Amino acid sequence: MSAHYLMPTYNRQPISFTRGSGSWLYTQDDTPYLDALTGIAVCGLGHCHPQVTDAIQQQAATLVHTSNLYRIDWQERAGAALCTAAQMDSVFFANSGAEANEAALKLARLYAYQQGFKRPKVIVMEQSFHGRTLLSLSATANPKAREGFFTLDDDFIRVPFGDIEAVKKAALEHDDICALFVEPIQGEGGLNTAANGFAYLEQLQAECDAHDWLFMIDEVQTGNGRTGKYFAYQHSNARPDVLTTAKGLGNGFPVGACMVRGRANGLFGAGSHGSTYGGTPLASRVVHSVYDVLANSDIMDNAVTEGQFIRESMTNALGQHGVSSRGAGMMIGIALPATMDCSQLVDHARDEQKLIINVTGGHVIRLLPPLNISRDESEQVVERLLTLLQPLF
Ligand SMILES: *Cc1c(COP(=O)(O)O)cnc(C)c1O
Repeated sequence: MSAHYLMPTYNRQPISFTRGSGSWLYTQDDTPYLDALTGIAVCGLGHCHPQVTDAIQQQAATLVHTSNLYRIDWQERAGAALCTAAQMDSVFFANSGAEANEAALKLARLYAYQQGFKRPKVIVMEQSFHGRTLLSLSATANPKAREGFFTLDDDFIRVPFGDIEAVKKAALEHDDICALFVEPIQGEGGLNTAANGFAYLEQLQAECDAHDWLFMIDEVQTGNGRTGKYFAYQHSNARPDVLTTAKGLGNGFPVGACMVRGRANGLFGAGSHGSTYGGTPLASRVVHSVYDVLANSDIMDNAVTEGQFIRESMTNALGQHGVSSRGAGMMIGIALPATMDCSQLVDHARDEQKLIINVTGGHVIRLLPPLNISRDESEQVVERLLTLLQPLF
């Protein structure tokens, strides 16, 4: 076949996979590829995890969709499980990360409206990524992604990530701020961590509390065990008012969630927001099955141990060449020297090493392996990367 009938919104690599199992993807001729990207932080439990597959199969044969005009038992069960894991009060189920963030940003506007704001602003970060719907795109930093779409620029204030002084300055300069929206680790923007780590979130929350802004965290990528805690904010003492997630939430089944707590709870009422598909019996049962696996296993501890093993192995071998590592758990950035030409790395890793990786920010190898990767597979990730990189120094 050809991609002629597909809008060319992606530069697709010249490969296609027909089957997946755990940490491995297979082409038509059954060549195995070690997947250190999991469909961009989605298949955290590995490809076709048996419990998730079982949930999909059983529910597909029982009841797929009824609409939110009726109570949905699996949605109530998934909601209770997720809110317990996230320490939040209630949840709205959507179908993607962008939709979850759209709900969060709409909540912020409603919160401001109820206080009589005319045109409220939300603080967002440089290098942020929040999605592709118009409002979530407006919150996103990347100028290339925003170009031509008449984004709602006046509704956002952008400050450098990790810089609490810039937030304090914005608070002094503007009296129309209603919320702040942040990723605990910036994924798409280059795997950026704050210099003071997750304590940055505590500083941000203090500012939000001082000014009555909603403190909103985007855990579309960092959630569902990716960083070694159920949600990355749980590495800190911070507590968000609004928390969004997606990606790992359904292990490949398209779902998203926007959760609220305290003063953000109860803002949405009947008719104020909705989704035909959000939280179908099928989607909700999948969400519940992912929760079940994460909550009743040592998978998140494994993400911490193996993540540390991969990062340390890489810096032990290449630190002398100025290579450094960052991230948490199974969200790993390997920063190569800025002078290195990394344009071929993804292709060479795939074709020569049968290893699936991503490069972000020009020279940062981004690894998002399955949370339940084995030590043998972690060693193979390291070996294949080193075979690829060592000749380049
Ligand atoms: C991927 C991502 C999104 C967008 O999610 P989609 O499911 O692609 O809409 C939003 N925020 C963050 C932090 C992401 O990594």
